[in-house]
Amino acid sequence: MQAGKLIVVTGPSGVGKGTLLRSLLARHPELYFSISATTRQPRPGEIDGQHYYFVSREKFERMVAASEFLEWAEFAGNCYGTPRLQVDQQIAQGRLVILEIEVVGARKIKQTFPAALRIFILPPSLAELERRIRDRGQDSEEAIARRLTRAQAEIEAADEFDVQMVNDDLESALLHLEAAIFAQTH
Ligand code: 5GP
Repeated sequence: MQAGKLIVVTGPSGVGKGTLLRSLLARHPELYFSISATTRQPRPGEIDGQHYYFVSREKFERMVAASEFLEWAEFAGNCYGTPRLQVDQQIAQGRLVILEIEVVGARKIKQTFPAALRIFILPPSLAELERRIRDRGQDSEEAIARRLTRAQAEIEAADEFDVQMVNDDLESALLHLEAAIFAQTH
């Protein structure tokens, strides 16, 4: 059995992490995608237990107090966290576990899980990032402004991560991601 491994994929909101990872998982069903808990309201079409575990702030705080998260962070007024138990169990079973998280949480993983491979996804430009967030049509003007301000600061942190890649064209970004993930594990 191959050794389990934690792979952290991060980058600014709207950079296309979700689309990239959905394609990756479609090609590699053996990968385990960690489902986070969040205090954010579900967007239309999002399903509890599939996209996120949608929890109240009180419940989230209880989970923090009980050390149930591998990492957690606040993002655009909501809390997001990675449940520790499932990640530990899947890695112990030899699986590759993928986290899709924002940058503050991804930084914390360096301390809590030094063996993790941490990948930073960059947008082709800030203007393109803004266009992608607007096209998604799911955020208010205020939320878009908060996400863009934060994105600028996040992009400056890209070189702290093990691998950086630009999500320009989906297919080439996917090949790059596969190369990074499977390079040391196959
Ligand atoms: P969204 O509200 O667009 O689903 O997610 C906002 C941001 O939170 C995204 O950058 C996403 O990657 C990040 N995120 C999702 N789950 C987690 C998590 O468990 N921990 C952290 N730190 N960030 C997360």
